[in-house]
Amino acid sequence: MLNVLVGFLVVILLLAMVIRRNPKTNGDPTQVPQGKSPHVRMGELIYSDEKGEGKTLWDYQWGLKGKPDEVWKNGDKLHVVEVKATHLPEYRTNPYESHKMQLAVYMRLAQVHFKLPVESGEIRYASGQRFKYKWDYSLRNQLWRTIERIRKVDATGNTFVKVKKTQCQRCRYYSVCDKKRFAR
Ligand code: SF4
Repeated sequence: MLNVLVGFLVVILLLAMVIRRNPKTNGDPTQVPQGKSPHVRMGELIYSDEKGEGKTLWDYQWGLKGKPDEVWKNGDKLHVVEVKATHLPEYRTNPYESHKMQLAVYMRLAQVHFKLPVESGEIRYASGQRFKYKWDYSLRNQLWRTIERIRKVDATGNTFVKVKKTQCQRCRYYSVCDKKRFAR
């Protein structure tokens, strides 16, 4: 479990790096999931990192940075797309939470960078599944709470899940993780 948490931490730190601590906003968590995406009117492609040449987007207030795969503008609203080269197992009816939070980071970054409201975001897996989310109070708050938890773990070294030494020894982050010393 901690493995998953730290894995997620790495995702957030690397793909949407927490560069600054602080703000308490009135986000409100929760998700607005939805299985397969309904049709989305895409509009105009205004940002793409398809070839790795997209500029890094920053959000100094929440302390995030990252590069979405695609940002589309439809009227005065944005739609953000995260493309996964990986397949999602057929038995799964929802994306991995880390992927969902990654998309949420990009939705926040798109909103801040383009100064336009984000209407929705979408995860596309190589296996064909698509999942659409609204950028609403729920998702914003879920992202903010996740950032807070990561910062707390990062600052204190205390995790809220237990991990055993034997789990650490099998963990892919073992060589670089400084939290393994808390394992018992
Ligand atoms: S080495 Fe242990 S504490 Fe560190 S990420 Fe892996 S399982 Fe978690």
